[in-house]
Amino acid sequence: MAFWGNKQEGESAQPGQQAPTQVTGTLEDGYNDIVKSKGRAPGIDLAIKLSDLILEHAVHERASDVHIESQGANLRVRFRVDGILQDMLNSPKNADIPLTQRIRVLAGFDPEPPTSFRNEEGRFQKMLSGRAIQVRVSSFPTVNGEKLVLRVLDRQQLGLDIDQVGLDQDALTIIKKLIRNPYGIFFITGSTGSGKTTSLYAMLKNINTPMINIITLEDPVEYRLEGINQAQISAKTGFTWSEGLRTILRQDPDVIMVGEIRDYDTAEISLRSALTGHLLFTTIHTINAPSIIERLFEMGVPPFLIGSSMLGAMSQRLVRKVCPKCCQGAAAPSEPVVNEFIKNMDPEEGKVVKDLILAPGANYKVEKGCPECRSTGYMGRTGIFELMLMNEEIRKHILDHAPTDVIKRTAIKSGKMRTLLMDGIMKARTGVTTLSEIIRVTATMV
Ligand SMILES: [Zn+2]
Repeated sequence: MAFWGNKQEGESAQPGQQAPTQVTGTLEDGYNDIVKSKGRAPGIDLAIKLSDLILEHAVHERASDVHIESQGANLRVRFRVDGILQDMLNSPKNADIPLTQRIRVLAGFDPEPPTSFRNEEGRFQKMLSGRAIQVRVSSFPTVNGEKLVLRVLDRQQLGLDIDQVGLDQDALTIIKKLIRNPYGIFFITGSTGSGKTTSLYAMLKNINTPMINIITLEDPVEYRLEGINQAQISAKTGFTWSEGLRTILRQDPDVIMVGEIRDYDTAEISLRSALTGHLLFTTIHTINAPSIIERLFEMGVPPFLIGSSMLGAMSQRLVRKVCPKCCQGAAAPSEPVVNEFIKNMDPEEGKVVKDLILAPGANYKVEKGCPECRSTGYMGRTGIFELMLMNEEIRKHILDHAPTDVIKRTAIKSGKMRTLLMDGIMKARTGVTTLSEIIRVTATMV
């Protein structure tokens, strides 16, 4: 097995000793060069070279995921960059270069895929340009052959600082105060890939001191955080969310992070422990912050428990930042266009949105495209946030079992909540991103 290189390859290397990633030409060029050198080196050496090359390009392009697919006679490699998949390689497969076997072994799988379906998940670490890159691998049997998806976790890209996730000054001040409450529960919601985990980690990191015991329950543990006790859920061994949480509560915790609440048991234990001197952070699956309350009702959590334990909730999405090299200034949209855009919204909310878009002093940008941004017009991402804080009015509505739209309206009115769309418009106004990007990302919620 040593032949393949082992899992911890490169782990002992000292940061900074490696040369910076040398990425010359495209991944396709690199692949063709490797194919050309066939016969001069054993196939496995070429597979090692190719897997390294793919990862180097992935890090260079800031890809979050690498898809390695068999498409009939072709090998296809796609990168997800700033949330969008891009073709990087689509060339005839080469049977003499065992690429998937190489990655399978790095991930700790058997070199050959199992004959009957089995869920395979593994991880490995790789030093590239002096940086420890963690890679999580998942394998999936398609009718065309095995598909591998590599999630690339680059610590430097993760930006684990709460000041860097994209919260504006006001929200940042509120959050920093809120996460220093001695007890209560704070929810984060957002679709997959919305940056929830990054926000949760950033919050934990912000309050982490040797004086408090922070324990997390995660599925999976995405990143190892220093000084924090992280545990991995495992349904196989009975270490479920609710069992894990019961165990954690016997570990004298101050702060608990529960990766996700999706059933009554976990919700009930979480909210109760938030009432008995613990501070909890968790995620829950809903489309916006106010609908978290209805989701908890649906799970069967009593209103008084929600009203008395909940500190607030935040919904978030990631938006692409406009490429600073090629973006161009733009005028605000005309009033009829804005009227058309808001016509299906709640009238009060629509009015706020309209005023935000049309208020003078904006520095709107439109995307263009240049070689720097691969002609996409965008480079990098930042968060947009909807921060709902508990107040007496919202608490009263919770006790009355009020529906989401009432809670949302109250949060906007009395809690000064800015919806995702409103926060996004604020970011577009400052020229960080574009209005079209905000509309693309928030379209499903208007
Ligand atoms: Zn550009």
